[in-house]
Amino acid sequence: MSHDPVGVLGGTFDPVHNGHLRLAMEIATALSFRQVRLVPCARPPHRGAPAASPGQRAKWIRVATSNEPRLRLDDRELLRNGPSYTVDTLASLRREMPETPLCLIMGRDVFANLPSWDRWLEIFDSAHIVLIDRPGIEVELQAEAQAALDARATDDAEALRNHLGGTIYAYAPPPLAISASRIRALLAEGASPRYLLPTTVLDDIIDAGVYGPNPAMAAE
Ligand code: ATP
Repeated sequence: MSHDPVGVLGGTFDPVHNGHLRLAMEIATALSFRQVRLVPCARPPHRGAPAASPGQRAKWIRVATSNEPRLRLDDRELLRNGPSYTVDTLASLRREMPETPLCLIMGRDVFANLPSWDRWLEIFDSAHIVLIDRPGIEVELQAEAQAALDARATDDAEALRNHLGGTIYAYAPPPLAISASRIRALLAEGASPRYLLPTTVLDDIIDAGVYGPNPAMAAE
């Protein structure tokens, strides 16, 4: 069996930014993925409620990916009731794509806390994990996350095509130290985050005044 994998980049996307988008492109190209789906969560189980609404976060992903066929919004978590559990998302994708390897893409910052996720070990029944180093963010892995890494790590990218799931592959993209929290902080203090995220997304954020009133920026 060898199929082009589909990548799954889950997150809050509050808002989507060039760190997410460029990461998805680098992976799609370097690892020959058929597609990378950006999957915003409705209610993140591990952090506070996002500042932007689910509809806004999904719209920005749609706008940001409209010219790139390999990237697309997958809004299944927004259409489901209850908390967004990744294991359920992957099982639902697996049912739709029984023959396609699925690769859950996550920064090391997120992987560090994976053992606190609902039924986390079942993730490997449906998907691989592509583990990304994130510039400027140092994290220590929980012991169980380290053990999963030791047991499942592969440095053979072919494993991502030859198996439907089960392995962990570390990938180091060209680093982009961009985060949604910094973008929100800049907007809150009236500073401009321009060029950290697509212009169309920023313009819509300013129009909607989501992350704080920004009359000065509207005149930029
Ligand atoms: P926040 O600052 O609000 O925590 P974020 O920028 O980390 O947001 P998320 O939506 O939480 O964005 O991230 C979704 C996924 O993308 C996570 O796996 C995260 O590690 C990864 N990611 C986000 N930004 C980058 C980046 N600049 N480089 C590599 N990976 C990133």
